[in-house]
Amino acid sequence: ISILAIESSCDETSASIIVNGKVLNNIVATQSVHEKYGGVVPELASRAHQENLIPVVQEAVFSSGIAKEDLSAVAFTRGPGLMGSLLVGVSFAKAFAYGLGIPIIEVNHMHAHVLAHFIDEPKPEFPFICLTVSGGHTQLVLVKSHLEMEVIGETRDDAVGEAFDKTAKLLGLPYPGGPLIDKYAKAGNPRAFEFPITRMPELDYSFSGIKTAVLYFLRDQLATNPNFITENLNDLCASIQYSLIKMLTIKLEKAVKDYGVKNVAIAGGVSANSGLRQTLDELARKKGWELFVPKFEYCTDNAGMIAIAAHYKYLAGDFTTMDVAPLAKMKI
Ligand code: ATP
Ligand code: MG
Ligand code: FE
Repeated sequence: ISILAIESSCDETSASIIVNGKVLNNIVATQSVHEKYGGVVPELASRAHQENLIPVVQEAVFSSGIAKEDLSAVAFTRGPGLMGSLLVGVSFAKAFAYGLGIPIIEVNHMHAHVLAHFIDEPKPEFPFICLTVSGGHTQLVLVKSHLEMEVIGETRDDAVGEAFDKTAKLLGLPYPGGPLIDKYAKAGNPRAFEFPITRMPELDYSFSGIKTAVLYFLRDQLATNPNFITENLNDLCASIQYSLIKMLTIKLEKAVKDYGVKNVAIAGGVSANSGLRQTLDELARKKGWELFVPKFEYCTDNAGMIAIAAHYKYLAGDFTTMDVAPLAKMKI
């Protein structure tokens, strides 16, 4: 089984070839046009996908050594994501598969973030709980099998990646600010300043409060000391990160306890955060969890995760008809 997989849901154009469940490559073109706008501009993202998609696919196909005539199927991200971005990938996948006379397989992007854990060893055992933390989502997912998963908790407003990026912006850091908060936090004191830890009912999250809290706190401090941010950057980053990680782990601990699982995984771009990784390592040791963290290239948006999801769907005979349209919002 050889599958070409395409990911184009946001601002990464990516293609991957998977053969018999083994991901051979994962080609990613990251769009830099958005940096100067401080966030992803949908219109520009669609245009960049148009430019990048064919070269990215060519590189994936050539470097795999598989002739395109030998492909068994073409997989693509159907949603969730930016409509204009998704349309580029979906249209390409349909046309390419139609030309080759092979079937197409739609993949849910959030499902794929979880299945990124099945690209390499070690693989988690079912059932497990995956905390998916990205730029657009924050979800606790109960994973029962490769194709059966259930969202048991999620954010009611901002995603945690968004909270990282928006608070970073308030500190004057460029987009995306998450990795910079991580970097400065390493040299800061996480208890220097106290930011709110919002507690939502059950297993849900809310990350919009911290943005407002940081905004007003900085406004008050800057009124008396215009250099407040530069003088306290490390401590500010460490304290913001501390609150965000605390909110994430409180609910993760509750979910693991409620569902009685032993295997715990994290996925999505924010799982690159070194503070989160360290906190989870400590928690896992203390609680006896087996913790799974994917390789960095499979944490952020990539077609390798779409490929592995498509492989399992292929095995299940789960193909998509050619009249499929992308979905900006799509449930797991
Ligand atoms: P979604 O998958 O929900 O559609 P997305 O694809 O944009 O969203 P990802 O690419 O998975 O999200 O992750 C991007 C997010 O990860 C950004 O918000 C970025 O700031 C954050 N991020 C990346 N590295 C780190 C880090 N080291 N610390 C904190 N946040 C980080
Ligand atoms: Mg991205
Ligand atoms: Fe993503």
